Amino acid sequence: MVPPYKHEPLTDFTVEANKKAFEDALKKVEAEFGKDYPLTIGGERVSTEEKIVSINPANKTEVIGRVSKANKDIAEKAMKVADEAFRWWSKTRPEARADILLRAAAIVRRRKHEFSAWMVKEAGKPWKEADADTAEAIDFMEYYARQMLKLKDGIPVESRPGETNRFFYIPLGVGVVISPWNFPFAIMAGTTVASLVTGNTVLLKPASATPVVAYKFAEVLEEAGLPAGVLNYIPGSGSEVGDYLVDHPRTRFISFTGSRDVGIRIYERAAKVHPGQIWLKRVIAEMGGKDAIVVDKEADLELAAQSIVASAFGFSGQKCSACSRAIVLEDVYDQVLNRVVELTKQLKVGDPAEQSTFMGPVIDQSAYNKIMEYIEIGKQEGRLMTGGAGDDSKGFFIQPTVFADVDANARIMQEEIFGPVLAFAKAKDFDHALEIANNTEYGLTGAVISRNRANLEKAREEFHVGNLYFNRGCTGAIVGYQPFGGFNMSGTDSKAGGPDYLILHMQAKTVSEMF
Ligand code: GLU
Repeated sequence: MVPPYKHEPLTDFTVEANKKAFEDALKKVEAEFGKDYPLTIGGERVSTEEKIVSINPANKTEVIGRVSKANKDIAEKAMKVADEAFRWWSKTRPEARADILLRAAAIVRRRKHEFSAWMVKEAGKPWKEADADTAEAIDFMEYYARQMLKLKDGIPVESRPGETNRFFYIPLGVGVVISPWNFPFAIMAGTTVASLVTGNTVLLKPASATPVVAYKFAEVLEEAGLPAGVLNYIPGSGSEVGDYLVDHPRTRFISFTGSRDVGIRIYERAAKVHPGQIWLKRVIAEMGGKDAIVVDKEADLELAAQSIVASAFGFSGQKCSACSRAIVLEDVYDQVLNRVVELTKQLKVGDPAEQSTFMGPVIDQSAYNKIMEYIEIGKQEGRLMTGGAGDDSKGFFIQPTVFADVDANARIMQEEIFGPVLAFAKAKDFDHALEIANNTEYGLTGAVISRNRANLEKAREEFHVGNLYFNRGCTGAIVGYQPFGGFNMSGTDSKAGGPDYLILHMQAKTVSEMF
């Protein structure tokens, strides 16, 4: 029997031994900088001339690794391999597939800090954020393995005398997994293993900013016993390899996490039926957010300020769950705003490799440019309270930035910035606050800080988000505890780390026999 699921604890870095182990891991990773990484197709290592150069966003001149880059021909070859592998992988026992995930989780657990260290360097994640990312990757493996064991015999349906009915799930086919750079381990691993454990084969196209950590994970799955051809690692450009595979008639489903615009593009393209295609593709998409924390007038205001700051600026606001809107009742508005500004000014921005850093850089030049443009827009739309500047001379650093008195319809209240920019809006009363909170095309996370039970109950019904939190921040969902995913333009309403997630990667079959 597999022991019950429990989430992976976070590392306590106040313990000297843990701190030392993490520093050692950073050194180990640094010693491996600049290596070449091939693609993996059918277990074979394939090197290409053209490379994706992965750099450290905190120090642009530091090359993390050079990763071979797939093109259409390579993608086609990978598709053939995955399609072929599906024939037998789909017939393997679910228990055997689950065991591979459990073994991979054990391997990662033993090399935990090493994986986190790769993310510190490749994604610019501060220690705590990187540690949480690795823990979540482990959680996804542990959780989905158990979910598969629960689902393997299907769900009971009614039978009658002389007639037995069975209802169970079978795999779909080849899945294209397109994963993001902001959770370069957790979401990449989660979306990959959910597809694999359900009996599908996978073409993994990780984000071009973070391909090395994905390569390391593909190696772990191999070590854990995943047969060649079941997972194929093919980083490449979205407009070439991404589009080609999304359009491919043999692609059965696409699991995508990323921006709203790319999500819409994939959804539209996947809807088109190409010659030779005999199914309608399924799309599982996790997209953006414009998440709000609402602060009631009867509330713990210190908790409110702390929650807003942590949710807005953790990992430089580069989470689709990040708080980018603080909606505060006018009675307590100045108090909360001033405290948030005070706390924000105390945040240490700098090299994520240093333990004391709260906020590192943003991911790359184009993110830097986009966020700085939004800061300029913010200066027109609100009152700049703190931050507002950036420095991209060494890495892509932007100060945590707070704007006050922003209109609910302003661009910085509507558009996802995906950076350390927070807008404050004043609400007349609680109903007005909910109205502002819901005034967005997204619906991912939200939080309410309140001591008023009736208002919490109202928010439970009316705050239209996939993940609603009371009296805490709006980031940091835990696999198996807070299944994660949003409404409207935040995606396809799927819930990663939830009890119905695996079913999205399968199709149900009913077999009825007369005796
Ligand atoms: N699951 C993460 C959280 O709850 C966010 C995932 C994302 O940003 O893509 O904070």
